[in-house]
Amino acid sequence: MATTYEPVIGLEVHAQLFSKTKMFCGCSISFGAPPNTQVCPVCLALPGALPVPNARAIELAVRAALALGCTVNERSVFARKNYFYPDLSKGYQISQFDLPLNTGGKLVIDTPSGPREVGITRIHVEEDAAKNLHGVGHGTDTLVDFNRAGTALIEIVGEPDLRNADEAEAYLKKLREVLMFVGVNDGNLEEGSFRCDANVSIRPVGQEKFGTRCELKNINSFRFVRKAIEYEITRQEAVLSAGGTITQETRTYSDGLGKTIPMRTKEDAHDYRYFPDPDLPPLVITRAFIEKLRVTAPELAEQKRTRWQKELGVTLYDATVLTGHPKIADYFEEAAAALAGKDASPEARAAAGKKVANFVQSEVLRTVTTRGLEAEFAVSAEYVAELLRLVEGGSISGKMAKDVFAEMITTGRSASKIIEQKGLSQVTDTSVIEAAVAEVLAANASQVEKYKAGKTSVVGFFVGQIMRATKGAANPQLVNDILKKMLDAQ
Ligand SMILES: [Zn+2]
Repeated sequence: MATTYEPVIGLEVHAQLFSKTKMFCGCSISFGAPPNTQVCPVCLALPGALPVPNARAIELAVRAALALGCTVNERSVFARKNYFYPDLSKGYQISQFDLPLNTGGKLVIDTPSGPREVGITRIHVEEDAAKNLHGVGHGTDTLVDFNRAGTALIEIVGEPDLRNADEAEAYLKKLREVLMFVGVNDGNLEEGSFRCDANVSIRPVGQEKFGTRCELKNINSFRFVRKAIEYEITRQEAVLSAGGTITQETRTYSDGLGKTIPMRTKEDAHDYRYFPDPDLPPLVITRAFIEKLRVTAPELAEQKRTRWQKELGVTLYDATVLTGHPKIADYFEEAAAALAGKDASPEARAAAGKKVANFVQSEVLRTVTTRGLEAEFAVSAEYVAELLRLVEGGSISGKMAKDVFAEMITTGRSASKIIEQKGLSQVTDTSVIEAAVAEVLAANASQVEKYKAGKTSVVGFFVGQIMRATKGAANPQLVNDILKKMLDAQ
């Protein structure tokens, strides 16, 4: 009988800390700046330049660790990770090794068989390398852009607790969400500020000992994570089933080829000759500092989803869409609170929440552009709340609200201004509506017959016709009431 194998997957995520400057110097790190314009003697590794740790970056690393249930170590040590590569002009990367800033922790992911806890081994701080730009300049030249060199990162090393590509994807998405909601990372895979390497091995089911692992690099989308891991599992199974052995190596994923290809045999930790960086004293932070960050920790997306379902009348689905980005979550809460008003009862808050959730999902989200931690809303949350209040008060219909909202986007004006200027208002005059209903019923005698024969579904057709006849201005509730009365009188 053929051996059945079980995959063992652990992810290492590099997340760029949301700091304005680099890890050990004051250079700015804006993405897309002209090459080699955001550099100084420290990040270019000129002789005699000394690194100074970025306090803000350390704070963000601790915030991330607290959100992931890690132990924050009051004393940690920066170490040199030595290797040679053109994008590393110092010949070493400043990282942390045996005494990292944060250890232990966990992330709970949702799987088809329920929630599952995935261990986090450690979260340490380090600096990024520069970037090799291949095939630029003269023909096939490779040039180096040092703008990225020294950028502050955390590396989140996960335990090998994942068992398939679905779980790996779920872990990555959840981790990204946590880091974004804590405000430490912009979650941008495309620009490389959230990067993942995957360690994949397989072992016969029932065997305790891990198989030989391969490290997969160059995974810059959630889709690639799944495809790269699935390909790698299949490849390793084929090698072992044919009686071969797995070579410990680093492989890269090529989307064009749809497979992983070998890059280099994988180094072991001792190959890097780690040692404490003599330029940097041990990093010491106080218990009070850690506790201050613990009590000021922002609410996570998961907590928001639970609370909103309880307090703001939304479904889990709504809450999940609205926590797609921290700025969208804030916007929703602000608009819901503004619509409910101060001192609203729990019922009123829930009703307002539901209305805002619907409007934000159907109208607002179409017009939002997000770039990393930045989300650009064309209309303020206050203005959306005012618009919905006008619908609630009967000044305009829900349908008119959509047109008014479109106008608000292009003009930047408030709903009440637009309604006033355009002379828009909802038709609540029953005689006007009665006239429209009578006209529609007279023009559609065959549909009226169908209604009388018991086909009540034609009501929707009539409502549509009446709304069209009144250019969407008729109060829908009045239309329904009057239509019902007049149909039944036929
Ligand atoms: Zn610098």
